[in-house]
Amino acid sequence: MNSLTQLLNNRMPEALELLRHMVEINSFTANPEGVNRLAQFTANSFAALGFTAESVRSINPAYGDHLVLTRRGHGPKQIALVSHLDTVFPPEEEARHNFHWLPEGDRIYGPGTHDIKGGTAMMWLVLHALQAQAPAVFDAFTWKLLWNSSEEVISQDFGAVCRAQFGSNTLAALVFEAEGRFGEERLMVVARKGRATWRVTVTGRGAHAGSKHRHGANAILQLGLTLQRVAALTDHSRDLTFNIGTVSGGTVLNRVPHEAVAEGEMRAFTPEIYSSGKTALLNLAGPGEIRALADRFACDVRVEILSESRPWPRNAATDQLAALWQQAGGELNIPVNVEQRGGLSDGNLIWDAVPTLDGLGPWGDNDHCSERSADGTKVPEYVEISSFVPKAALNTTAILKLASLKSEI
Ligand SMILES: [Zn+2]
Repeated sequence: MNSLTQLLNNRMPEALELLRHMVEINSFTANPEGVNRLAQFTANSFAALGFTAESVRSINPAYGDHLVLTRRGHGPKQIALVSHLDTVFPPEEEARHNFHWLPEGDRIYGPGTHDIKGGTAMMWLVLHALQAQAPAVFDAFTWKLLWNSSEEVISQDFGAVCRAQFGSNTLAALVFEAEGRFGEERLMVVARKGRATWRVTVTGRGAHAGSKHRHGANAILQLGLTLQRVAALTDHSRDLTFNIGTVSGGTVLNRVPHEAVAEGEMRAFTPEIYSSGKTALLNLAGPGEIRALADRFACDVRVEILSESRPWPRNAATDQLAALWQQAGGELNIPVNVEQRGGLSDGNLIWDAVPTLDGLGPWGDNDHCSERSADGTKVPEYVEISSFVPKAALNTTAILKLASLKSEI
């Protein structure tokens, strides 16, 4: 184990140099030129390990290309490692907040240091360690490295890109999103909530607020009632949440409003609870109870699902992978546990195609925040330098367990 740690320590300066280059390339999702430049740099960085590059167009032409790197093995088995290229920070925001690569003690601040360029640097470290520690295993397996160009906007087409690359002999898909922590425990991600975004549109009837008030069917009033019902669908005991995100309605003050709209999202861990939540939401559609006094004209409530990312529920195949990480942690004296996370990742798209485990990245915090305030209440995204080597050792040891386990079968 000491030789593994030594080897990783020796590689760290190079890994951090790689990370610095990646962070200095702006790869905001809606900056396809930057995303493609990062993909090119990433492909070059893994070329020395023997990987060849292929890019796959995004379905949405506003986004950059997905990246697939392959190193063919002598044997039939394959292991996939998954990350993404994009970040949530537009170049103007990085400039406005002076948010750039900034090492400070054990932290490195900067866009994507933690989500997820640090994870890509972790992949690079782990593959170098595998090549050096277990060259026979490294050469026997086919390694597929997959980067989503537009994970932050939950592009669904990347799931199909992965499935096309997996084949039937893929033992695992390992996702390099950030590490979870609970005290000293490293938390591997074994489930993620699914998410549906929705819109409620109420159509009432406009009327003069002075002379024909009785003819109006107030859409805002109806929306208010309907939204109370949406909020009441939240059930924390089942990890089912509804969030009302935006509301708008009405036009001018002397008019009974004829339309009002709200949008929000819903999340749940299991397919059953997810679909029961969706059904309950859709059932709120129909004629409302707010009516015009003059003729009983009723408001109409319409409910639409705008987008869906299905849940990644707790499952046996993922748990078997997590157990390998826990065994490896036992050997390395690193406490390892599991968590179910509320946020989405590419794991949601692929968990039922091959056994999937997430959270293989380094430790850090404040993802998606670019601001720093003088009083310390706002701290931007950072990655912790000292978290790389122990986590890379853990990942390397666990991947070797996975490789040997399956070759015995
Ligand atoms: Zn991410």
